[in-house]
Amino acid sequence: MQVFPNGSPARIHDISAHYPQVQRVHVLRLDEIHPVISGNKWYKLRYYLDDAKGLDATSIVTMGGPWSNHIVATAAAAKASGFKSIGIIRGEEPATWSTTLQQARDFGMEFHFISRHDFDNDIIPETYRAHPYYFIPAGGRGRKGAEGAATIMDAPARDYTHIACAVGTGTMLAGLIRRCRTQQLMGFSALKDHPELEEQITGLCGLGAANWSLNRDFHFGGYARYKPELIRFMNEWYDKTGIPSDFVYTGKLFFAFHALTEGNYFPSDAKVLLIHSGGLQGNRSLPKGLLSY
Ligand SMILES: *Cc1c(COP(=O)(O)O)cnc(C)c1O
Repeated sequence: MQVFPNGSPARIHDISAHYPQVQRVHVLRLDEIHPVISGNKWYKLRYYLDDAKGLDATSIVTMGGPWSNHIVATAAAAKASGFKSIGIIRGEEPATWSTTLQQARDFGMEFHFISRHDFDNDIIPETYRAHPYYFIPAGGRGRKGAEGAATIMDAPARDYTHIACAVGTGTMLAGLIRRCRTQQLMGFSALKDHPELEEQITGLCGLGAANWSLNRDFHFGGYARYKPELIRFMNEWYDKTGIPSDFVYTGKLFFAFHALTEGNYFPSDAKVLLIHSGGLQGNRSLPKGLLSY
């Protein structure tokens, strides 16, 4: 998929002035690379879509929840690459479609709503797993997703000591681990109960937790859960840095970074790169007025 023929255009945003405890803090603004195929999703999708092209598939099939960043990104990326797309959505069809589903539909995606049980057990119609359909696992999880995510680091300089990102399936973290061998990689889980996550990341990157770690202290109650404290922080962070974050992933990442820095977790000569993995569209599921942006 050639959305960015010249490679990643992601901007480095320097916020070091706000964190004198460390030498440098940069934010890699993947949220800005595309209005819809935002954040890490484009990177995770690219090699799947190349593969689908090579196999002469006509339709991309994938899975996600009604507010899924992956669903809307897949719909847009599939269309841009000349594919039809089908989204298998967790749960019954809602009376009112989320803005995420509406937007995905505008990119031509068709939907199948399946029960949570079937969704969680990967039970989908068999036809969707065979030609001319091309199946991409929920969240772009998998080897090709991780290989694509590794290319997030194609453009930025590598003289960081720490690289931190939010974790859902762990595919992005696995890709970064494969690519960045001399840095300390820090993943912050947006999920509460996912005991097999470490093992899955190890499986995807082929490396045990030597230069990487998974932190589970900042999930705020679990996936897509939040507390007033998190929302307050996200508003303050935006006022201070001008960087919007989402409440599912990047808000929790920045909160964690902030808390750890205040607690002098990092050595004073640390050079930190925070990956802004996008996902801002998910904030539309929040009650109006909570966020100042
Ligand atoms: C999907 C997503 C993640 C999680 O990526 P994984 O590769 O599944 O760990 C992180 N941040 C944002 C904004 C996302 O949309």
